Amino acid sequence: MGTELQAPVRTYRVRTYGCQMNVHDSERLSGLLEAAGYSAAAEGDDADVVVLNTCAVRENADNRLYGNLGHLRPVKDARPGMQIAVGGCLAQKDRGEIVRRAPWVDVVFGTHNVGSLPALLERARHNDEAQVEIAEALEVFPSTLPAKRDSAYAGWVSISVGCNNTCTFCIVPALRGKEKDRRPGDILAEVQALVDQGVLEVTLLGQNVNSYGSDFGDRGAFADLLRATGRIEGLERVRFTSPHPAMFTDDVIAAMAETPAVCHQLHMPLQSGSDDVLKRMRRAYRQERYLGIIDRVRAAMPDAAITTDIIVGFPGETEADFQQTLDVVRAARFSSAFTFQYSKRPGTPAAEMEGQLPKEVVQERYLRLTALQDEISWDENRRLVGRKVELLVAAGEGSKDAARGRLSGRGRDGRLVHFTHAQGVRAGDVVETVVTEAAPHHLIADGPLLSHRRTRAGDASEAGTRPTTPGVSLGMPRVGVPAPLPVVTGC
Ligand code: SF4
Repeated sequence: MGTELQAPVRTYRVRTYGCQMNVHDSERLSGLLEAAGYSAAAEGDDADVVVLNTCAVRENADNRLYGNLGHLRPVKDARPGMQIAVGGCLAQKDRGEIVRRAPWVDVVFGTHNVGSLPALLERARHNDEAQVEIAEALEVFPSTLPAKRDSAYAGWVSISVGCNNTCTFCIVPALRGKEKDRRPGDILAEVQALVDQGVLEVTLLGQNVNSYGSDFGDRGAFADLLRATGRIEGLERVRFTSPHPAMFTDDVIAAMAETPAVCHQLHMPLQSGSDDVLKRMRRAYRQERYLGIIDRVRAAMPDAAITTDIIVGFPGETEADFQQTLDVVRAARFSSAFTFQYSKRPGTPAAEMEGQLPKEVVQERYLRLTALQDEISWDENRRLVGRKVELLVAAGEGSKDAARGRLSGRGRDGRLVHFTHAQGVRAGDVVETVVTEAAPHHLIADGPLLSHRRTRAGDASEAGTRPTTPGVSLGMPRVGVPAPLPVVTGC
């Protein structure tokens, strides 16, 4: 029997830009490539395949992509057989333009055909020709694809893709399409599979989780899903993102308050505190409704931590509009806020609007807003000094505190806590301790631990293993086996 030479295993690296949806899609891309026989490149090593999973939300998204592709060109020139693939929202938007501007790119795939990556890589290699394949609508639910998870103790579980809203600053609906909801049974089965592998926390993911169920005509579906997920034995923490104030209903507040596993943490994008600006953003709620939801959440869960997203400098925003945003921030007492300076996104209605503000005006308002929010965040954190907290120990968060012999973890309210006395504590374990100090964006717990629970997630973290979700077999091609040529559209 001759010994056939085994082709060396090709390695890959996925670089992720943008939101949690992309972070989770990248777990699917890693899972797909590993199912097709690739292995992850070691830290610092060049990879045979580099996948850029792009974001299109910010103005400089394009510059960043073409800048990165420019850096990769000499690496590829020096490494025959290396392949570069570009996916995600910017690929869905720019399509063949990417290969025209960067002809050393081998594959361009979109947000609706993530599953095509392995086949396209093989075809590009077999035909020695760049492959651009963009689907106009979702081919398969990304959650049916294999996934290699980043974390041993926490997992993303998408409940829907796409969005039915039309916020005037947002390009997502154009690139990710109309909302498609997964069946509750599929979602619960995926959560169960993660819990069976030791995962303690899941985050239910959707562009707008509150409209979950609109696809199959069940307005109460999201609250029911929260309760059902929380009943899964062994699951300790349930989070979700992103809700939408226009569709946020009281049954969700009740489900959060009455389901012990659901964390009392809510990230609810405000975007602006001015009713006029909200109207031009086409956000179907106003200041009063937004603050009403905050009040009802706090009444049901006084310990809830509420965070938000705010855009400063939307076209036509006056100083009076901005003052209303500051008023809502003072009233809402967010534990933290992601604040963005408005940037034009070509292809969105807002980009064509009158009243685009000068950069220095936007910058100056941004600084006032972040100063106010930092003050509030710090004040809210100071209230927790002396409070007992339960932490899910995190990997890789708070590296600088490692120098002080501290580890870091997340409280049930999502706050980041750096704690000492961590001997024998692993990422994925659960500890209880007391907050001794507050900072604007984190808490410190320097006292002795009250308890330390070693978990299966901690064992997995220590062993370096990660949960996988096999996905349903889509007849994925193996490395070196060229797939049949489909009809390519739109190139
Ligand atoms: S809700 Fe608005 S901002 Fe969010 S993804 Fe949909 S269109 Fe974009």
